[in-house]
Parts: sequence; structure tokens; C-alpha cells
Amino acid sequence: MGLMDGKKGLIFGVANDRSLAWHIAEQLHANGAALGFTHLPPPKMENRVRKLAEPIGAKAIVPCDVTDEESIRSAYHQTREVMGELDFVVHAIAFANRECLSEPFYKTSRDDFLQAMQISAYSLVALCREGFDHIREGGSVLSLTYMGSEKVIPGYNVMGVCKAALESSTRYLAAELGRAKQIRVNALSAGPVRTLSASGVSGFSTMLEHYPTKAPLARNIEAEEVGKAGLYLLSDMSSGVTGEVHYVDAGYNIIGW
Ligand code: NAP
Repeated sequence: MGLMDGKKGLIFGVANDRSLAWHIAEQLHANGAALGFTHLPPPKMENRVRKLAEPIGAKAIVPCDVTDEESIRSAYHQTREVMGELDFVVHAIAFANRECLSEPFYKTSRDDFLQAMQISAYSLVALCREGFDHIREGGSVLSLTYMGSEKVIPGYNVMGVCKAALESSTRYLAAELGRAKQIRVNALSAGPVRTLSASGVSGFSTMLEHYPTKAPLARNIEAEEVGKAGLYLLSDMSSGVTGEVHYVDAGYNIIGW
């Protein structure tokens, strides 16, 4: 018996086998969940996701660009046709122009700021709104965030502002979707893990070196630990938990010096 037997979900944000979304997917699959995946529309992106998703028996592999409302609607409709109502949705999407993550924050242009916000924060609202009719009563939505939402992390810049908006959106969405349909909405705040997106953050290697010197567990986290906590937050094991930002960071966030 797996924790997720009989449950079905759609995962937004697998780029490759290092993606945090992929580590969550592996845990969900190992525990019996049926999975669908989205990819950015170009065929190159589809092939990347297909190569990973097909061997674990993905039920749907559909295009989705979260900057396009129609693309989100179509991704849910296509998934619904083959999978029926969903039990969970994973939002593991973020983007900011590279210069925003290396230049001083005050130099962020209006366009870059809005683009980062749209893809990294507003997209959660859009996925919840367009997904509302496709997620069953009692379902669960999970997004991924980082502590740069609360504290200044050198180089994280506009993405920290996006994560603050994402975490606040998590609480507003949880309050409304819980009352409307018993849908839970949580965010998992991961410590630094080397992924494609992370490579865009200037000083990321310094972050990896710094964590073991300060974190209570005196180490960095493993991506698999994000996967296991994701499984908990998407499963009935966390049935009483909503609107939370759950840290998986070897305890780093509690340290004040
Ligand atoms: P990742 O593997 O690069 O995943 C980011 C995903 O976002 C990619 O699949 C990317 O697609 C997708 N994406 C970007 N723009 C999109 C758009 N317009 N529409 C749809 N999808 C889009 O990196 P990751 O580190 O696993 O990131 C996943 C989440 O974890 C992000 O929210 C990130 O901020 C968060 N997080 C990461 C860390 C870390 O240290 N790695 C720590 C805390 C939180 P393409 O690759 O096809 O462009």
C-alpha cells in the first residue's frame, strides 16, 4: 500500500532530473500516485520531460506556458480528458532574467520585475483559478519557495520579492480554497539545491558553502528530502495543514547570527 494509491496529480516545473519537481514526482510515483507533467511548448522541452516521465508511466504530458491563460486552461483540459479529476497540483516554476540575479536589486527594470512576478508568483494564482474545477474536493496544491522571501540573500534580489508574493498568495489561496472546496495550499521552502534555475543565481556556490557553517544540521539538504516533504504535504498525512510555509533547509532559517 502506497501513501498515494489512487491519487492523481499534475506537476508543473520539471526541466530535468535535478529539478525539485522531479524529486517530488519520484516520491509520489514510488507511493502509488498517477502523474501528469507539463513542459514549455517548444518540442525540445517536451522531449526533455517525455524522456523522464514516460518510464514512470506518466498519464499525460502536456504543454503549458504559465504566462498564457489559454495555455494553462488547455493544459488542465487535456489532462482532465485522460486522468479525470486531480487530487493534487505541484507548482515548481520560477524565472527571472539573469541580470536581475547579478546586478544590484535597485537596478531591476520594470519589465524584468513584472516578468519575474508573473512567472514566479502570479502563476500560482492562475494555476489555482484555472485548476479550481479540475481539482477534487479535499485536494492539495504545493508550491516551492525560498527564504530569500523574508531575509536579504545576496544575489537573490527580485526573486526574493517574488517569493514573498508567492508565500502571501499561498495564505490567501489557502483561506479561500479551503472554505470553498477543502483544498489545501502550502509552500515548501527548500534550502539551496543545484538545479538549472539555481545556476542563474549569482553567488549560489557561496550559499552552498555557507549553509553547513550555520545550519543546525551542519550540512546542505539533499534534493530527495524536498521530495519526501513534498510527498507529506500532498498526501493525507498532512490533512490538517494549510497555508503553511514548511522549511526543508537543515534548520538554517531558525539561526539569527
Ligand atoms: P528547475 O529545474 O530549473 O525548474 C524551474 C522550472 O520552471 C523549469 O521546469 C522551467 O521550465 C519552468 N518555467 C520557467 N518559466 C516557465 C513558464 N513561463 N511556464 C511554465 N514553466 C516555466 O529549477 P528548480 O530549482 O527545481 O526550481 C523549481 C522551484 O523550486 C522554483 O520555484 C524555485 O524557485 C524553487 N526553489 C529552488 C531552490 C533551489 O535551490 N534549487 C530552493 C528553493 C526553492 P524550462 O526549464 O523548460 O524553462
